Amino acid sequence: MSAEKKWVYMFEEGDATMRDLLGGKGAGLAEMANIGLPVPPGFIITTEACLAYYEAGEKFPPGMWEQTLSALKVVEERSGKRFGDSKDPLLLSVRSGSKFSMPGMMQTVLNLGLTDETIKGLIELTGNERFAYDAYRRLVQMFGHVVLEIEARRFESVLERVKEDKGYEVDTDLTTEDLRAITEEFKVIIEEEKGFAFPQDPYEQLRLATAAVFGSWNIKRAVDYREFHKIPHDLGTAANVVTMVFGNMGFDSGTGVAFTRDPATGEKELYGEYLLSAQGEDVVAGIRTPKPISQLKEEMPQIYAQFAEICERLERHYRDVQDVEFTVERGKLWMLQTRTGKRTARAAVKIAVDMVKEGIISKEEAVQRIEPSQIDLLLHPAFDDRAKLRALEDDRFLAKGLNASPGAAVGVAVFDADTAQEWGAAGRPVILVRPETNPDDVHGMLQAQGIFTQRGGATSHAAVVARGLGKPCVAGCEAISIDLEAKTFSVNEKVVREGDYISLDGGTGEVFMGQIARVEPKWEKEKELQTLLSWADKFRRLGVWANADYPRDAQRAREFGAEGIGLCRTEHMFFEEERRPIVVKMVLAEDEEERKALLDQLLPFQREDFEGLFEVMDGLPVIIRLIDPPMHEFLPPREELLEEVTRLRCTGQDPKRLAEKEKLLRVVESMWEVNPMLGLRGCRAGIMYPGLTEMQVRAILQAACRKAKEGIEVHPEVMIPLVGHVNELKVEREKLEKVAKDVMAEEGIEVDYKFGTMIEIPRAALTADEIAKYAEFFSFGTNDLTQMTYGVSRDDAEGKFLLQYVERGILPENPFQVLDREGVGQLMRVTVERGRSTRPDLEIGICGEHGGDPSSIEFCHQLGLNYVSCSPFRVPIARLAAARAALGEVERDK
Ligand code: ADP
Ligand code: MG
Ligand code: MG
Repeated sequence: MSAEKKWVYMFEEGDATMRDLLGGKGAGLAEMANIGLPVPPGFIITTEACLAYYEAGEKFPPGMWEQTLSALKVVEERSGKRFGDSKDPLLLSVRSGSKFSMPGMMQTVLNLGLTDETIKGLIELTGNERFAYDAYRRLVQMFGHVVLEIEARRFESVLERVKEDKGYEVDTDLTTEDLRAITEEFKVIIEEEKGFAFPQDPYEQLRLATAAVFGSWNIKRAVDYREFHKIPHDLGTAANVVTMVFGNMGFDSGTGVAFTRDPATGEKELYGEYLLSAQGEDVVAGIRTPKPISQLKEEMPQIYAQFAEICERLERHYRDVQDVEFTVERGKLWMLQTRTGKRTARAAVKIAVDMVKEGIISKEEAVQRIEPSQIDLLLHPAFDDRAKLRALEDDRFLAKGLNASPGAAVGVAVFDADTAQEWGAAGRPVILVRPETNPDDVHGMLQAQGIFTQRGGATSHAAVVARGLGKPCVAGCEAISIDLEAKTFSVNEKVVREGDYISLDGGTGEVFMGQIARVEPKWEKEKELQTLLSWADKFRRLGVWANADYPRDAQRAREFGAEGIGLCRTEHMFFEEERRPIVVKMVLAEDEEERKALLDQLLPFQREDFEGLFEVMDGLPVIIRLIDPPMHEFLPPREELLEEVTRLRCTGQDPKRLAEKEKLLRVVESMWEVNPMLGLRGCRAGIMYPGLTEMQVRAILQAACRKAKEGIEVHPEVMIPLVGHVNELKVEREKLEKVAKDVMAEEGIEVDYKFGTMIEIPRAALTADEIAKYAEFFSFGTNDLTQMTYGVSRDDAEGKFLLQYVERGILPENPFQVLDREGVGQLMRVTVERGRSTRPDLEIGICGEHGGDPSSIEFCHQLGLNYVSCSPFRVPIARLAAARAALGEVERDK
């Protein structure tokens, strides 16, 4: 390696863009020095030097030490002091700092350059013996611990003992004599522990401290921190060598840390703490209680004013909130660090909006600064970060399942839906814990704070219902075992009984024992978020619609800003209590006449459902999908019937009931399918069960006509699912269009309606030009389209191998969460091209779950879809993601 390589940069040789080489702290110090802020003179030994140090087996690379000494000369010239001088000694700090901030994880040594000799100069110069010994005491202590790796307790216990013996309360009570004695005792500890004396050569101190800072890149807590935050291990740390300034020179001196705005609320006011007569880490060390920064205004009005102005300047310079460290030495302010301030999701939104109003950033930037996932956090109750950390420390973590529906839930564990309903209705917060859920559990789910299942993936019943209800859900947590009899579940040694509190994080899939404190959101109160989204609405090209089956969901969706209903699933209506028996009879009906009579009974129910939707969505389009699931889902399960028939046969008690059940069993068996998801469902059911979809269309159009007569603006769109061949659509549509016309004639009013189809079978995608002849709109059902393109059954795969695939890197992402652009996306592209070649004004949207995923939304934007449709709770996220997609495009074209 050439000795010419530059390992050392003076502050003025660097700038904010050089974070890779100089580390974040170094780049910040350099930038502050360059814009004329008061930064003590200093230089930076690069991260490359640190890496080279490791490569050479923990030796400084050639040339580095020489460059360090030359840089030190420059600092000496600037400060007029000399390192190691017994009259006017320069003191230094050596501080770690890597590309990404790792607060408190690595090492820093202060007051380097003090020795038995140089301390005389310091005393003479400052006339402050106590201060000099306090600085020396700190150096020996830090050096002993950080550089020589002696346990911190050894030193702390000495301090504590002296304070106790003398009856002191705080460190500032220690006298010069005390400090001198303590320093001597610290030196003895070093001799005892290391077998050599505390180095009296300042250059030796500097050399060892620099090596220790490099070494701190790989201490355990730093490595763990990087693991957790996914920071690469091969970046290294810089060593920042900075002239010491002293906050511990008396009560005209001090030190503090501050955010330029409140990092929790985003409020525009300095937020931080300081201590008078203190050095560096005293503020965070908890030795003395620091004062809020607002108090500095009274204690040091001039310093405060200067500091506030610097903060304002830094914010405008960096165009973002800064997190700074400062020190006051005898009435002079010094800046020691600046970095982008971390903030909560709530603060991030407020800060972005405020900064637009203050003219610091543009609306476009504000929209681009907020991650859609942050909005997600804002709209669901979230665990308090600190409380969660405490739960982890207390070993209350239980297991991690699938993050099926976001939000934080706290409640007592119950193991059946009835108890959940009963306790929940009585006002007790409950979490329903089940192996998996089914429609019979919904009453319990409605009353639960959260849902926790052992089996099932992201489209399992529990997950889908929870998302629809906006309730947190952790699904498919195979690590637990449930004992329904005993009403307990367990993980390893830990057992949770009915009535025990647990806490679920639906956003991460984590489950804890006990209660974790939460923070609750309210949409009406999210004024800043609403402002931000109103800007987003101006930038986006995609419409944002919602999937909603019930008027109350539609209502919520509208409040969140939805511009239409992209998917109303009608089958939920068939499952409801009073309707299901009629549906069962209808499926079993032996002749057309009987079936028709039963369908007539269902018609008013359906009509009512739709009337509510049209009313809520006044003026906006509503897409209603005709019946989709396999028909046997409406009948009782085969196993259940088999059991009952067997029992009735054995007892012979109730022949009439036996005959009935036998008949039902025969039908169920005749309808049994090997692959129901590829069986008699979607438009196939509509074609094979005449009358069923006619009834649905009749209900839709009747509802529309009647509401139109009341003065409501209706735009019904009838969606025919699961079309594979154009002829399927053709026959269905021709049949249904006739019904629509008939209804309008009967009602004596014309309404604006459309017929269209879902694109969820690859063949439909490939023949979109043919299909578009009979469809006025397309809606991508990307759940099925992904299943059928991948040949993967989602419900089976997610719990078994799919998530493992992702973990092992076989798949980059779960294709059911993030749209697979290369595969499924190609089919979508073809669909758009071919569909619009037949019908240029074809309305195309997406109603699969991907419609609420930011990456998938970006792709839909690129494909030129008209809208995305997602669950009501994701509408705000989609509005932001759609805007960011549009703005990102502008950025790229620049
Ligand atoms: P961290 O990255 O853990 O915050 P720092 O390198 O910022 O570590 O230093 C720890 C403490 O020492 C900080 O409070 C800082 O302000 C203080 N400090 C560092 N260098 C100096 C200096 N040259 N003069 C005065 N205080 C300093
Ligand atoms: Mg710091
Ligand atoms: Mg489908």
